[in-house]
Amino acid sequence: MTFKELGLDEQLLEALDFMGFEKATPIQEQSIPHILEGKDLIGCAQTGTGKTAAFILPILNKIVEKQYKHTSTLIVVPTRELAQQIDQQVQGLSYFTGATSICLYGGGKAGDWNTQKKAMDRGVDIIIATPGKLITHLIMKNVNVSTIENLILDEADRMLDMGFYEDICRIISFLPENRQSLMFSATMPPKIRALAKRFLKNPVEVSIDISKPSEGVSQLAYRVYDKQKTPLIKKLIEERPDYKSILIFTSTKRKVNDIVRSLKGGNYLVKGISSDLEQKDREEVLLDFSNRKVRVLVATDVISRGIDIKDINMVINYDVPKNPADYVHRIGRTARAETKGEAITLVNDDDAYKFKGIEKLIEKEVPKGKLPQELGDAPDWKSKPRNNKKRFYGKKKRFGKSSGKPQIRK
Ligand code: AMP
Repeated sequence: MTFKELGLDEQLLEALDFMGFEKATPIQEQSIPHILEGKDLIGCAQTGTGKTAAFILPILNKIVEKQYKHTSTLIVVPTRELAQQIDQQVQGLSYFTGATSICLYGGGKAGDWNTQKKAMDRGVDIIIATPGKLITHLIMKNVNVSTIENLILDEADRMLDMGFYEDICRIISFLPENRQSLMFSATMPPKIRALAKRFLKNPVEVSIDISKPSEGVSQLAYRVYDKQKTPLIKKLIEERPDYKSILIFTSTKRKVNDIVRSLKGGNYLVKGISSDLEQKDREEVLLDFSNRKVRVLVATDVISRGIDIKDINMVINYDVPKNPADYVHRIGRTARAETKGEAITLVNDDDAYKFKGIEKLIEKEVPKGKLPQELGDAPDWKSKPRNNKKRFYGKKKRFGKSSGKPQIRK
């Protein structure tokens, strides 16, 4: 489903387009309509499923629609890192709306509080806070939450595991009764249900189950420079003459064509499939692949969900998928029905940060391969991964209307 079909504001659609989010993920598709209707919601979803945008988008939509003149939204999260990640997404998604946000967490520099206080005195739309720090500010009357209409508790199970139950109850006691409350949690133990019962009103329940990659898939990742990618996949294919079905995923239609072209000339048949092909042609290519006429199929994510071709020997991720959940879908094409399979991912500088997100989602460190010597030196896994989102989000501050200051709607 597209975001336009979900009925989101034009300014949000523009930001989504900028960020390259083309289609809503399942948690977004299922949650956004209910949140837009003003219902309370409890969402069972892990990091990597797109759950952050699932609550930020409808709340930003509400902020644009209602044109609040006060702080309307409080997002409570377990850790400073999560607060920062959410803030980055808020900044990206609210780029064209002018909505503002602020993070409140402990452990920052001594001067941070003064900066935060000034921003809050000017007024912000959204506060993203860790429980301990927020309680301190509430007690000191530094923060006014009496106008909050939207409350989000994110990673609620982790907050309870970290002993924040009392703090959460206390924070909520400062909030108005009349509000929309959303709660997201990776698991749904009874204590989470009890929390929801206490603070949410007739919540809609949405659950996204990301199954972990099957044990039968042996995963491996190579850190590479772009120019090493094609020689490496050629070598990986050559070294496995007994593999009859190899699926290569890449992010764009253009790359599908480039890869197909560069693999032609080997003694096997290679074909590409993307949304460029008519449905009839897609079916034909898939049939040839499942009948083993085509040995190597190069595809975009259009076919990572849903198709059921058994006994694919190896999946190669030519690049890291944008959305970590897509990694699970992509590599789930191999090792189906108890068979064994290989999943190999090529990680360049731009993708190293995203790959860390995948390892977080699957709760496993993927073993790292050593590049064959003849392909030259590989980049170092330890080099600091580049967060491309930060570069994009940074634009707002540099080129935004208010030249770096938080933008407050008048
Ligand atoms: P989250 O589960 O919120 O931590 O999101 C995981 C990652 O998926 C983040 O890097 C998001 O930027 C990305 N993401 C979220 N929604 C989408 C979407 N609809 N399409 C592509 N990427 C997305």
